[in-house]
Amino acid sequence: MAVNSHPLFPVQCGYCNSSARSHYLALDIGAIVQCNDCKGYYVSPRVADEVILAKLQYWAKQDAVDECRIAEYFSEGMIEYHKEELEIISQYLPEKGKLLDIGCSLGAFLQTADRKGYEAFGIDLGKASIRYARNNLDLNVVEGSIELLPFEDESMDVITIYEVIEHLLSPQNSMREISRVLKPQGILAVSTPNLDSFTRISLGKGWWVINSPDEHIHLFTVKSLAAFMERAGFKVLSTRTRGISPYTIFKTLKGERINCTQICRGRRKLRNAPFPSIMGNCKQCIKRCLNAVFASSFSPVRNHGDQIFLYARKER
Ligand SMILES: [Zn+2]
Repeated sequence: MAVNSHPLFPVQCGYCNSSARSHYLALDIGAIVQCNDCKGYYVSPRVADEVILAKLQYWAKQDAVDECRIAEYFSEGMIEYHKEELEIISQYLPEKGKLLDIGCSLGAFLQTADRKGYEAFGIDLGKASIRYARNNLDLNVVEGSIELLPFEDESMDVITIYEVIEHLLSPQNSMREISRVLKPQGILAVSTPNLDSFTRISLGKGWWVINSPDEHIHLFTVKSLAAFMERAGFKVLSTRTRGISPYTIFKTLKGERINCTQICRGRRKLRNAPFPSIMGNCKQCIKRCLNAVFASSFSPVRNHGDQIFLYARKER
């Protein structure tokens, strides 16, 4: 059933359970509101929880491992990016212990972590992705969701959760579960789309990433994510933002609806271009320059990249 044929319901804040909220941005279906108490952003009214869970289950069943995904996830650029991410984590925790990646997908990040000396574990909903990570990469991954992590209390030194938190029905409950599994003083690394990104400011609800009201139901700015983590018992060590997609901005402003399938197709076209390595290198170079601009402490756009990254230490 299409999402617009389901009834909408007002919901409580998923960060603090408050019902007091203010309108922030109208979406095609429902709206983003801001909690008057904790200042977090979420979609309300929205479709029933069962509809959101059914869609997640549908994706998990439809999950497919194809040439496009493998090329994308295991590209040189992605491996480099995973190494940089592990470098940041090891600044906060130099010992290589047990690392759990929640929403590990094909296991590309875990494979790099494993090669760097971590004891790597993963969990994901996607059946085909799990099979690939187990059978092709020999990784220790399980099928399951964040609501019930099949790991002992205080057993992990590092937990990473990239592009997952925006999908959760209750970020508050999920953070309790993460906290249960993470060792005291363990490190948490999170990434999520940035509601305050330059792309969102340019495109408003035209940015498909924030206008997915049955998928991306909890949204963050750097400030609101840091405040949420502090309330959940974590000490925020650093934040940064990265990425901007001129392609998405250009296409959306031209009136085309962009989603991740089209972006993947565009990348495949680039790989099949007459001079793929030259074109690819140019693209990587532009990307790196833009990321450096967003990462600089002195940059006026520091908090306005498309993706927020936050690193925190469990304090209680
Ligand atoms: Zn709240």
